[in-house]
Amino acid sequence: MNIHEYQAKQLLKSYGCPVSDGRVVLKADEAKTAAGELDGPLWVVKAQIHAGGRGKGKFKEPEAGEKGGVRLAKSVEEAEAMAKQMLGKTLVTHQTGPAGKQVNRIYIEDGSDISRELYLALLVDRGSSRVSIVCSTEGGMDIEEVAASTPEKILNLVIDPATGYMPYHGRRVAFSLGLEGAQVKQMVALLGNLYRAFTEKDMEMLEINPLIVMEDGNLKLLDAKVGFDGNAIYRHQDIAALRDETEEDPKELAASKFDLNYIALDGEIGCMVNGAGLAMATMDIIKLYGAEPANFLDVGGGATKEKVTEAFKIITSDPNVKGILVNIFGGIMRCDVIAEGVIAAVKEVGLKVPLVVRLEGTNVEKGKEIINNSGLDVIAGDNLADAAQKIVKAVKG
Ligand code: GDP
Ligand code: MG
Repeated sequence: MNIHEYQAKQLLKSYGCPVSDGRVVLKADEAKTAAGELDGPLWVVKAQIHAGGRGKGKFKEPEAGEKGGVRLAKSVEEAEAMAKQMLGKTLVTHQTGPAGKQVNRIYIEDGSDISRELYLALLVDRGSSRVSIVCSTEGGMDIEEVAASTPEKILNLVIDPATGYMPYHGRRVAFSLGLEGAQVKQMVALLGNLYRAFTEKDMEMLEINPLIVMEDGNLKLLDAKVGFDGNAIYRHQDIAALRDETEEDPKELAASKFDLNYIALDGEIGCMVNGAGLAMATMDIIKLYGAEPANFLDVGGGATKEKVTEAFKIITSDPNVKGILVNIFGGIMRCDVIAEGVIAAVKEVGLKVPLVVRLEGTNVEKGKEIINNSGLDVIAGDNLADAAQKIVKAVKG
């Protein structure tokens, strides 16, 4: 689960991290008051969306102006005008995809004088199964680009969970970033606070880009991108309350309400499968035969007819879906329940694309009978390979 920059900054501030004073604005007429409460002489007006690269992003609507989603203002009036221009508009960045994201919240911040922009992140490193600190002198820009072209400029420091964060970690990071004197001490304390926030709140990723050295030599978090482990959210009601559903894929949101394990993808073949392993195998075999899956979906073992119906509705609501493959190996999940769910869903939402169904396992005969007697135009698949080839052929011709 992700949160907005301003929420991340409030959270990190409560852990003692230095951030600028700022105000969140939800409606255009709040912008002037919000900006007026900050000291100036520089204001930063920042579009709040769950995606990075806002500064270099572009709005779809010309009336939002050319300047991207992070703008510097020299007066309260200018800040107000910028907030008004951006609110409600669609910002496209390299992380949003071409559709972009609608800006529903603006954060107005007291502007900082920047001397250097650094990069600092904490993340769960899958290779070592540990928390690792990643830092670079090349902050403010696209870190993926830095990693690709000048990997030697990135330091990766893995933290042993037996010791946790130690001051020498902070010193290593500080020296690698070229910090000196009091800044080293600041970095040791700052990283300790970030590590504590990261572990206590079950974060998955915490990215500060940029961490700045100000003109006066002090450090400050100028941007903050935080993601939490979704499986641990139940332990953090305060974090759960920060969820902004308008930022989430509506299909994934609907799926989460019905407890379906669904992840939206970009392909053209919708998949309904039981079991995460079989769902992965189904996606693989669709690719093998030359098409792309539109989603990952594991309907789970104990799915009811209603749940299957909802799953089917979510799949068909995706305009990219040009064909559907239902692949069920009935163990705990019974084939007849799946068949009934599919038919109920088709009756409700209609079937506008080819549908291949492959059933195997518990109550398979009953399931096939239900489908055959339904009068629906369903293509039967005999096995996984056959079903995948049939749906790819039906879609691609
Ligand atoms: P992102 O583009 O989504 O990563 O948004 P950031 O919050 O990182 O802002 C992008 C860039 O705007 C930063 O790298 C800075 O160069 C600039 N910026 C942001 N806040 C300030 C500020 O307070 N003062 C100045 N001078 N520049 C800022
Ligand atoms: Mg940034």
